Amino acid sequence: MTMRFLTLFTAIIISSTAIAKEGMWIPLLLKQLNESEMQSMGYKLTAEDIYSVNQSSMKDAVVKFGGGCTGEIISSNGLLLTNHHCGYGQIQSHSTVENDYLTEGFWAQSLKDELPNTGLTATFIVRIEDVSRKMLADISPSLVEAKRDSIISARISNLTKKATEDTHYDAYIKPFYHGNQYFMFITETFKDIRLVGAPPSSIGKFGFDSDNWMWPRHTGDFSMFRIYADENNKPAEYSEDNVPYQPKHHFPISLNGYEKNDFSMVFGFPASTEEYLPATAVEYTIDKLNPARIEMRDASLEIIGNAMANDKKINIQYAAKQSSISNAWKKWKGQTNGLKNVNAVGKKKELEKQFVTRAKETGKSDWANIPTVYDSLYKVYKPYNFARAMLIEIYYYGPEVLRFANGFEALTKENLSDSALTSLKEKMLKRTKSFFKDYHQPTDQKIMAKLMPMYLNNLNESVRPNEIIEYFNGKKPAEKLYKNSMFDDEEKLTEFIENYTPKQRKKILKDDAFKIAQSLLNSYSNNVRPPYSEVNKAIDSTNRVYMKALQTLLPNYKKYYPDANFTLRLSYGKINGYEPKDGINCSYYTTTDGIIQKMDTTSKEYDVPSKLHSLIQSKDFGQYADENGELRVCFIGQNHTSGGNSGSPAINGEGQLIGLNFDRTWESTMSDIMYDPEICRNIMVDIRYVLFVIDKYAGANRLIDEMELVKN
Ligand code: ASP
Repeated sequence: MTMRFLTLFTAIIISSTAIAKEGMWIPLLLKQLNESEMQSMGYKLTAEDIYSVNQSSMKDAVVKFGGGCTGEIISSNGLLLTNHHCGYGQIQSHSTVENDYLTEGFWAQSLKDELPNTGLTATFIVRIEDVSRKMLADISPSLVEAKRDSIISARISNLTKKATEDTHYDAYIKPFYHGNQYFMFITETFKDIRLVGAPPSSIGKFGFDSDNWMWPRHTGDFSMFRIYADENNKPAEYSEDNVPYQPKHHFPISLNGYEKNDFSMVFGFPASTEEYLPATAVEYTIDKLNPARIEMRDASLEIIGNAMANDKKINIQYAAKQSSISNAWKKWKGQTNGLKNVNAVGKKKELEKQFVTRAKETGKSDWANIPTVYDSLYKVYKPYNFARAMLIEIYYYGPEVLRFANGFEALTKENLSDSALTSLKEKMLKRTKSFFKDYHQPTDQKIMAKLMPMYLNNLNESVRPNEIIEYFNGKKPAEKLYKNSMFDDEEKLTEFIENYTPKQRKKILKDDAFKIAQSLLNSYSNNVRPPYSEVNKAIDSTNRVYMKALQTLLPNYKKYYPDANFTLRLSYGKINGYEPKDGINCSYYTTTDGIIQKMDTTSKEYDVPSKLHSLIQSKDFGQYADENGELRVCFIGQNHTSGGNSGSPAINGEGQLIGLNFDRTWESTMSDIMYDPEICRNIMVDIRYVLFVIDKYAGANRLIDEMELVKN
C-alpha cells in the first residue's frame, strides 16, 4: 500500500465511525445488525419487542397509512394517529364552506360521528421473510437483464401466491441492496378507516409553507383516524355494522418526556432514498433536474397562491393540491443547497477514486471500471430522465384538465357491451362530480398558459411532442384549448355522459384537452419510455454490482443499509440539537413560547386560535407540562427518515410513544441522497402537545380516556 492510499483509506474508516447512526434498518434483521448498538445507546428492550412473529410486538401497531404515510395504533380500539398533512386530503374532502374542517378542525363526538373515507386504507405487516436464496437461485451475474427480470417476476408471483393461499392477506417482494437481497412482506389491509379528529390548520399546519422543512418548529402536525373491522376483527369494506378494530398491540404513551442525548427510534415506511448514487447522478440532480422542477412549480404555486388568497372556496378546493406541489418544491430547494454545502459531488468523486484504487489493488479490474461505466450510462440516461421528470410535472402537477380528459379514454373503446357501458357511465359521473368539487377553471387555464410553454421549452428537440408545439405556437392556445373542450364544464359534461352512446366517441376523440393529453402521453411512450427503460435497466444492473463491490472493497466506509423502498424500517439515534451554520446553535426542542413569538394575526400562516392563545397565556397545560411548567411542542433527533415516514411513531427506549415524526430540518432535506449526522435531524411533534390539543383545546376527553398514558 502506498502512503497516499493509506491516508485515504484511514479517512474513509474515520468517517465511518462518525456516520454510525445513519440507516433505515429491516425489522427482521435487527437482532443481528442493530440490537446491541441500540441497547448501548439506551434502548431497554430487545429486537423481538420491535419485530416478532411469535408474540405481539411494535410492528403490530404500525401501519402504512393510505398511499404515502405511516400511522400508529394508540388504543385497544383501533385509534390511529398520523400527521395532519397525511390526513389532509381526507379532512379537505369532508370540508365545505359551511363546514370547514380545515379551518375549524373536526372532532367526532362519538363513534357514530366518525367519518368514512372512500379509498383510504391502513396496512399492517403480518410477517417478513428473507427470500433472497429462493429469488436468486441459479441466476448468474452475467445473465442479460431482460431475462433476469422475467425470472424474477415469475418467482415473485409464485412465492407471493403461495404465501397468501387460503388467506385474506396480500404479499409483495421487493429488492434490497439494489437486488442483492429480496424480502417478502405479508400484509393485512383494512379498508374502513374513519376520520376521528383533526386540529384546525392553524395548529396542524402552523407556519404553513414558510415553516415547512424548517427548525425551530411549532406545528401540531397530527390527525386521528380509527380502523374498523367486521365482527370477526377482519378487514371489510365500509359498513355501518363494522366495529372498532382490536389490535394485537398499541403504543403506550409516555408523559415523561425526554432529555438531550436520550435514545429514540422511528418506525415506519420511508419511501425512497438514493444513498449510493454515483457522482455524475448527484451532479445532474443539483445542476439540472432540481432547478427545472423548481422553476415549473414556482410558476404554478404563484398562480394557485393568488387564486387561494382571494376566494374562500378556492382556498378549500386547492389546499391539498397546493400543499403537495409546494412540499416537494421546497424540499428540492433545501436538498440542492444542502448537497452543495457539504460538497456532495466532491465527496462522491473521492469515494469513487478510492473505490477504483482498491479495485485495482485487489485485482478486480472489472469493478474498477464501474465509475466510467456510470459516466457513459448517465450520458444517455439524463435527457430521457429529464423528459420523464418534465412529463410528471406537466401531467401530474400541472393543469388538471388534461389528466381528467384522458380518463375518458375508456368510453371511446369500440364494442363495449351494454352492461360495461352502463357501469362505465356511472363511474364517469362519479369521477366528474368529485373532480369538479375541487376544480376552478380560470386557475387551471392560467396554469396551462404558463406551464405548457415552459414544459415544451425544457425538452430536447428529439423528444418534443410536435402536435403540441404547433398548437401552442398558435394564437392564445390555452384559451382555445378550454374553449374547444367539454372537460372543464361540469354541467355540459354530465349531460354528455348521461346521454352518451358509442356513436358519440368522436366528440371525445376530437376534444382539444383529450387530444393534447393523448399526444403528450403518446410522445412519451414512443420517444422517451423505450430508450429510458433500456438505459435504466443497464443502470440497475450496474447498481447491483456496484453495491456488492462497495461492500466488499470498502467494508468500513459505512454500516451498509438498503435504500428506502416503502417497506417497514427502523431508524434510531439520539435526541439532539444541531448547528446548521457557523454561530447558530439550535436547541433540541421548542415550547409554546415560540407559538406566541411567531403569532401574527395578519398572516394566515401564523394565526393562532384564540382558545389556544389563552391556554398558553394562562399556562393551563395540565399533566402535559414538563418539570419546568413548560409545554414542549416539537423536538429533533438523529433518526434517519424520509418521505413516507410522515406520521411514524417516535418511540423511547421503553417502547413508549413520545412523539410523531413529521418532517426534517432544511439542512436535512439532502439526507435522501447523503445523510450527514452532524446536521441531519428529523422533526417530531411532542406527544404531550398532541394530547394537550386533544384534551385542553378540543375537549375530546373520550379519546384521551381510551389511551394508555404512562407517567412515572
Ligand atoms: N415532511 C416530510 C414529507 O412530507 C417528511 C420527510 O420527508 O421527512 O415528506
